[in-house]
Amino acid sequence: MGLRIERIPTLGDNYTYLIVCEDTGEAGVVDAPEEQPVHDRVDAAGAKVVKVLSTHHHPDHSMANPKLAERYSVPVFGHASDGGRLPGLTDGLEEGDTVSVGNQTARILFIPAHTKGDIAYVFDDAKAIFCGDTLFAAGCGRIFEGTPEMMYTALVEKLGTLPDDYRVFCGHEYTESNVAFAAHTEPDNAAVRKMHRRVQEIRKNAAADWHDATPTEMTIPTTIGDERATNPFMRAKDAAALGQIRAEKDSF
Ligand code: ZN
Ligand code: FE
Repeated sequence: MGLRIERIPTLGDNYTYLIVCEDTGEAGVVDAPEEQPVHDRVDAAGAKVVKVLSTHHHPDHSMANPKLAERYSVPVFGHASDGGRLPGLTDGLEEGDTVSVGNQTARILFIPAHTKGDIAYVFDDAKAIFCGDTLFAAGCGRIFEGTPEMMYTALVEKLGTLPDDYRVFCGHEYTESNVAFAAHTEPDNAAVRKMHRRVQEIRKNAAADWHDATPTEMTIPTTIGDERATNPFMRAKDAAALGQIRAEKDSF
């Protein structure tokens, strides 16, 4: 059996994930800014939370860590360099480390650029990637603490070399505006046009309050194959080009 991934809508457009090993019932919580929606989902799933996993220190991904850690008596994982600023961090990770949830194991990619401490959790058996605010569907996070070179390494050389069928579970439901920008950047890209139509269809009946969103309104996950075909940042020819596209997106 595999890894069941439940998407929990939090704050205004954030994704929190409850990931459950179907063999053991053990579960991890990925990027939690709010406590209540997580409790509700854990109770409904009958899951046993064993770990909190953070992709980076920003409050909209980590504010609820201390409360969740206390409630479930579990450790909090994140990049080792974020000790002191990632709420509740107990277990620092580095590139190449692994973390398990039940029988499912993630390897850690260190992908600083959005912040200095961003990591991705790559579950190879489940073909699932949790990448926070570094890679979005058809977009990428703002480069707050790194450089375009670092974002290029993260998107093109690390995440972009994972297999096509790996699913991308990112930190926000930003796809509609991202894909509109992708269409502006590459007007002749048929894959972008197709994704644009698909995303508009999915988002057409979106709930007014994101907390009420159901899976039918969610554009996440996409796949690495989708991103290689449509994501203007992953498609950038080099770091300088990526930096230029990022600057343009910042004011789009
Ligand atoms: Zn962030
Ligand atoms: Fe965020």
